[in-house]
Amino acid sequence: MNCRRCKSKRIVKAGYKVLSKGKIQRYKCTECNKYFTGDEKYHRLEQSDINCLLEMYKDYDYQRGDQSLFAEILEVKIRAIQYHLNKEQEK
Ligand SMILES: [Zn+2]
Repeated sequence: MNCRRCKSKRIVKAGYKVLSKGKIQRYKCTECNKYFTGDEKYHRLEQSDINCLLEMYKDYDYQRGDQSLFAEILEVKIRAIQYHLNKEQEK
């Protein structure tokens, strides 16, 4: 496995990420300190993920930068995050 950002092979296991779907192994790149998981998917958000997103959203002050963080945590494209957050803001 290589780091998604810098392509380094210096990857270490870094605990688990807990999602609505369950636990997934998380890794950390020791070169650039990026965290990622082995099975990143670019699917549309399921309702449970949207709920998870909105929960996280409430815990953060809204900043544009946070969207990429949410995308990273939920492992979807940032566009999916933006779509759902915008939709939520229209309410
Ligand atoms: Zn890296």
